[in-house]
Amino acid sequence: MEPPEIERLDERTIQRIAAGEVVERPASVVKELVENSLDAGASRVAVSVEAGGTEGIRVRDDGVGIEGDQLEAAVAEHATSKIGDIDDLDAGVATLGFRGEALYTVGGVSRLTVRSKPPDADAGAEISVEGGSVGEVRPAGCPTGTVVEVDDLFYNTPARKKFLKRVTTEFDHVNTVVTSYALANPDVAISLEHDGRETFATEGNGDLRSAVLAVYGREVAEGMLDVDWRPDEGSADSSSLNARTENGSPSVIRVTGLVSHPETTRASRDYLGTYVNGRYVTASSLREAVLDAYDGQLAPDRYPFTVLFVEVPPDDVDVNVHPRKLEVRFDEEAAVRSAVEDAVGSALLDHGLIRSGAPRG
Ligand code: ADP
Ligand code: MG
Repeated sequence: MEPPEIERLDERTIQRIAAGEVVERPASVVKELVENSLDAGASRVAVSVEAGGTEGIRVRDDGVGIEGDQLEAAVAEHATSKIGDIDDLDAGVATLGFRGEALYTVGGVSRLTVRSKPPDADAGAEISVEGGSVGEVRPAGCPTGTVVEVDDLFYNTPARKKFLKRVTTEFDHVNTVVTSYALANPDVAISLEHDGRETFATEGNGDLRSAVLAVYGREVAEGMLDVDWRPDEGSADSSSLNARTENGSPSVIRVTGLVSHPETTRASRDYLGTYVNGRYVTASSLREAVLDAYDGQLAPDRYPFTVLFVEVPPDDVDVNVHPRKLEVRFDEEAAVRSAVEDAVGSALLDHGLIRSGAPRG
């Protein structure tokens, strides 16, 4: 038998393989598009999906927009307005996405249209990509901001399309993503619509409790307790982590947000929202710390609602451990864990909710 020839894959195939890694399901597309809208400084982000996002996804924002002559770059590979070079990467980027590949990869596995008008442009323009082939830039009427439409996701990758779950499951994932951004950004009016029906719409008035009300309803919003924690000066909590960062921006761990009364629970961990430096994460260490704080007060298999913002010095956290950036790694994991447990414990204690015999400092 002859040894086979080794050949480089063609670009289209490389693109589809790469797309499979970034774009797993409609919710991953929604995540990328919402991040782009937030990066664009939007004050309103409206998401609407059809059939759980499998048939159509539309994200509209009122952000800075994209100039007509930049539309081709926006959908091109490794093209981004967010970092210049590797030094910017090391300096830590403030924006959410920076790999310059979301629109490119989505365009490879769907019918994508990006339509945009910057505030001071006379008219808008749009570009469409179908299965990786990029069309011409055309003039288009549209309000200030950007609309991205993604139709027929995975129409040209049947193997991946087969992995999609039922519409309700896909929509649940979309809902989880949009909810997490709505709660992390109470100053932005974020809405979600499924098959023409509104799921929720936050006001964008900057008030976290009002965002919780919009997303989870009155019963939950009224059952939420305030968390506002910083380490005591000179106590054991002002750990090495706080001491090490005198020269930088945030120098201490802070934990703020809302956690539910132990009687306001659900039979699912899905409502344990934790955010690190503004990003939604599902770090198991944080979840455990939260549950430890409730210490015996939850009914079996019941979990609280939390919207907990943990701020740590950026140098102490690696948010890119996981490609979808849900897991994080801390340099000082024990310090962060104990801060979170203490923060939630103190909030419960303030409401007289810690069981007797379990004193906390
Ligand atoms: P990245 O976000 O990593 O830069 P994307 O492929 O998601 O890569 O987007 C490419 C570029 O398109 C962005 O850097 C940005 O300049 C532009 N862009 C994408 N979405 C928007 C939007 N909603 N508003 C303004 N500009 C956008
Ligand atoms: Mg992006």
